[in-house]
Order: sequence, then structure tokens, then C-alpha cells
Amino acid sequence: MKTHSGSIETRAVHAGEPSPRIGGAVVMPVFQSAMYVTAGEKSYDDTTYIRLNNTPNAQALAEKLAALENAETALVTASGMAAISTSLLTVLSVGDHLLAQDCLYGGTHDFVTRDLEKFGISYTFIDGNDPADWERKVRPNTKAIYVETISNPLIQVPDLEAVVRFAKGHKLFSIVDNTFASPVNFRPAEHGFDLSVHSATKYLNGHSDIVAGAVIGGSDLVEKITHRLNHLGGSLDPHAAFLLHRGVKTLAIRVNVQNNSALQIARWLEKHPRISRVNYPGLQSHPAHERAKELFDGYGGMMSFELRGGIEATELFMSRAQLPIVAPSLGGVETLMTRPSRTSHSGLLVEDRRRLGISDELIRFSVGIEATEDIIADLEQALKTGVL
Ligand SMILES: *Cc1c(COP(=O)(O)O)cnc(C)c1O
Repeated sequence: MKTHSGSIETRAVHAGEPSPRIGGAVVMPVFQSAMYVTAGEKSYDDTTYIRLNNTPNAQALAEKLAALENAETALVTASGMAAISTSLLTVLSVGDHLLAQDCLYGGTHDFVTRDLEKFGISYTFIDGNDPADWERKVRPNTKAIYVETISNPLIQVPDLEAVVRFAKGHKLFSIVDNTFASPVNFRPAEHGFDLSVHSATKYLNGHSDIVAGAVIGGSDLVEKITHRLNHLGGSLDPHAAFLLHRGVKTLAIRVNVQNNSALQIARWLEKHPRISRVNYPGLQSHPAHERAKELFDGYGGMMSFELRGGIEATELFMSRAQLPIVAPSLGGVETLMTRPSRTSHSGLLVEDRRRLGISDELIRFSVGIEATEDIIADLEQALKTGVL
């Protein structure tokens, strides 16, 4: 494993920067060139071309991202879904079987349930907290186990260490979507995961202005995924890479602020008489609080909660809150909230949502970097007026 020096705050700024600096530029410039002069490349994948993920902006960024998770290498992709679908289509082939956590990001859920079958790949959903369930469901043709560090939108934390042990015991690839935790709070490679995938659209970029993704892990596996991506074509444009590179530099300070603020907000919400339930791993009431405390460096900026009074009260609250922007997505500098039953998880069948515990009233809340007291003051005024 490549070791990278300094704390994550320092690595976010300095890892992967060109040395010597190009033309003396303190900031990595944008290489807005699709192709590069041929210089004796031996294979197609070595030809320098934006789609082949080997031009300077993609490479500098990949090195920075690998350093953040203390992993060997990384691949930058055009979106989180490009990272996820390309990774799955690399480790799985016709006849293979996947074990996947039962409550996944909506796009991943839909990819697994609607697309994998067409490639001859089968799947079974598992309870991320019940290794006995995995033992019952694993098959001779199972090739991979897929979980999310912190699940969306119920903010569950699966038994991550058991996932790695189980994968090693059954010779499976272990893949984790680390988007919600971010490398600041959890670094999958340090715990033995084969692959970490990200929607870099969220915390890594942090400014809600681009779509991008990343695959982080061991060199051999990431190289195979790169070759698959070279064919599927989900490569990141250099200008978006430049913006992501800039965003990543402030990742640690943003997430540290979000960790702190979210914990205070979750504690405040939990005590509020109009709130019936708060899902946040930093709360003692969270079923995996002890695990999160042990494995994470912070509990993250994501939570979800339910109001008393049904959908009507929920919608009124959302319309009266002034500071949080009602919009899908997450991980940016601005506080965002959304109702997953209407947005990210609207593709699920109603009965599946109910079974998983995603009520129509559930609000997902992504804490930004505004002052905590301003967010709380706004939530307080929005909760005061209600139809109770
Ligand atoms: C947003 C998101 C994705 C998909 O990422 P895109 O960048 O929108 O393609 C995947 N996983 C999680 C956990 C997400 O939040």
C-alpha cells in the first residue's frame, strides 16, 4: 500500500499535485486537450486521450483521491453511477451472483434490479447488519458483496468489518459506496475493502456544481475497471476534473464543520416534541452508534427525521423552513432537504419502501456549512407553526 504523509487536511491540499509544478503554477492547470502527441505507446489503453482516463487532470485528481483513502490507486469517472455501474460490470459476468444491501441509493437499486439481469447477473438483497442472513444467501456463483458505509435515506451503518471478513472467507469482492461518509470519516482500504466507490458530486466536490464519480482501491482491480470504463465511455471532462480537484482541497475542513454541526442539530431535533424520530449515527439512540464511534472519525453531515402530524405537517414544515433548500442531492456547502419517497427513492415500489421503513413523511437532511445556530433557529421557527 502506498503511504501518503500528513493528516487528511494536508493530503487534501497537497497529494497528487504535480512536481515540479507545471510552468510554476501553484494550481494544477486545466488541460483542455482531447488528444496528445503519440509517444511510443504500446497499447490502446496507453494512448493519451480524455476518454482513456490518462490525461493530466484525471491523473492528478486520481492520485489525490487515492491518497485521501490511503489506497493504492483511484479512477475518476463522469458520475457516481458511472463509477458504480462500471465497477459492478467489471467484477461480475454472465452467471455471477451479487449480494447487495437491501436499502441502496435509488440509482444503484434500480441498476441492480432492472439492468443486471440483462447481463445474466443475478442478485439477492441482504440485511447489512445480519451476517447469518448473508451465509444463508451466498451461493457458489456469488462474486461480490456490496454495501453503503451509511445508507440512504435511513442512515443505517452496516456491519462493515463483518462484510470484509465474510468477503475474504467466501472469496468475494467487497465493494462499499463511501459517498455519505467521505474519506474524512471512513477510509475503506484501511479496513480491507477491495473497492470504494463515490458519487464525487456530493462531499468530494462539495459545491453542488458538477457531477462526477470515483473508484478507489487496489491497482490490479482498478486497472480492470479503467479498461471497462474506457469502453463504456463514462470519463470525466478536464474542466469538471479541475472543479472537482479544487473542491477536494477543502474536503476535510468542510466535512469537519458538517460533522460538528450535524451532531448538534440531530441532538436538538431528537429533543424537539414535534419530531418523532431522528436517524443519525452520532446519536446514542442509533442502533449502530457504537460501531460508528469505533470505525468513523466523524458521524457525517447526513441525517433523516420524521415529524409528527403526517404528510401535511411535513410539507408545511418544508415550505416554512427558509434556510434549507428543498432539493435532491447532498454533500454541498448549502443545507439541503428532500423527501426521499418523492425523489431519490420514488422508483421503489410502495410496498418495498414501507418494508424498508422509508415513510412518506421521512425528510432527508444534508447539513451544509452555514452557522449551526442559524440552521437551528430556522428549524425552530418552521416547527413552531404547524397544523397540530
Ligand atoms: C448521488 C449518489 C450516487 C450517484 O451519484 P451520481 O454522481 O449522481 O451519479 C451514488 N451513491 C450515493 C450514495 C449517492 O448519494
